[in-house]
Amino acid sequence: MKCANCGGTLVYDVARYGLVCDHCGQVKPLHRPEEGILVGGMDFNAAIAAAGSHWGVSKKLLACKSCGAQLLCDMEQMSGMCPFCGSAVVLSAEEANCGIAPNAIIPFKIPKEPIEKRFYRWNKFAFWSPEKFRRGKVLENLTPVYVPYWTFETDSITTYTGRFGHTVGIGDSARTQWTQRTGIVEKHFSSKSVCGSRKFFNDPLLKPVSRFSNSDLIPYEPEMLSGMSAEVPTIGLEEAWNYVRLVDLKKDIMEACRANEHADCYSNIQYSTEFYNTSFKYVLAPVWLSGCKYGGKIYNVAASGTNGSGNCNRPLSIAKLITFLVLLIAYIVAANILNMGPLFVTLGIAAVVAALIIYVIMFAVTLSSQQRDEGTDYSKLKNQ
Ligand SMILES: [Zn+2]
Ligand SMILES: [Zn+2]
Repeated sequence: MKCANCGGTLVYDVARYGLVCDHCGQVKPLHRPEEGILVGGMDFNAAIAAAGSHWGVSKKLLACKSCGAQLLCDMEQMSGMCPFCGSAVVLSAEEANCGIAPNAIIPFKIPKEPIEKRFYRWNKFAFWSPEKFRRGKVLENLTPVYVPYWTFETDSITTYTGRFGHTVGIGDSARTQWTQRTGIVEKHFSSKSVCGSRKFFNDPLLKPVSRFSNSDLIPYEPEMLSGMSAEVPTIGLEEAWNYVRLVDLKKDIMEACRANEHADCYSNIQYSTEFYNTSFKYVLAPVWLSGCKYGGKIYNVAASGTNGSGNCNRPLSIAKLITFLVLLIAYIVAANILNMGPLFVTLGIAAVVAALIIYVIMFAVTLSSQQRDEGTDYSKLKNQ
């Protein structure tokens, strides 16, 4: 942080909970740690105004009546099914007001077929799912969708007080020595991402998708959106930033305090943080998405459009569970009637071991064929 008065360098003064300019002597006071105040950040109205709303494409807004998803789409591109829930949808006739325009995008690199192939391959292992789901063409509405992410970069300065533990001694005589410390720490945070889709906010389904870094991003260009849909953010910039500074950065800030004390562990840290030089990116991340209704519930499949890794929710077959329990009980009853004794246990274990071996072999075969597929270079293929 630079001195606002003369541009000189500010140095910490822990005793005064402030920063003192080494040139003009001006003091910039900071909040005391026990106040627990988090201040600063950005002027959202200015940031949004600066970002502009020029998407550079004309899109229609699709609003799904069934699940509430909002997508900007190309007329030709939609299958008529909502990729979030599988419901039939109709496009609205009006030109959509797209709101603030994205400033970064991660292009799709992987076409549809490998994603489908991979999903059906792994679906074979979903023993506990209903057969209709396991063998059915559940990926009918697999659609490429750009999911919005807000990513933040910020500088921070934290005053803290807390107990810090240092390990002293080695081997059996090692123990933790706790001391109360107070200090100031400065830390830069980059690429803190929040999913702008309320439906997928903190959803483990999108974990493989949200693991992107700044180097994956390219500046947004309208051409990249042609033939694609983009979800409209349902979590705004301000809400996303509040989540980052109040929840997401909490652990990182305490970790920065620990590192500043060269401690091995900490407890009861109180801190106040001032954020500055905060900037954001509105990123469109590529997701292959499908939603299917089964038994009144929605099961989603989501896979990263950059590396194909994905996740899905699958239904559980109650019928299969009941059948398994009935068989188990029948076996125990039969074993008692026939008075099988230790043989009953041995046979049971043998059956479990045999099933496990078959499972492991199937798994290994599937894994190796997947690895063969992963060698394929899709970069020359055109996105559909
Ligand atoms: Zn100064
Ligand atoms: Zn829907």
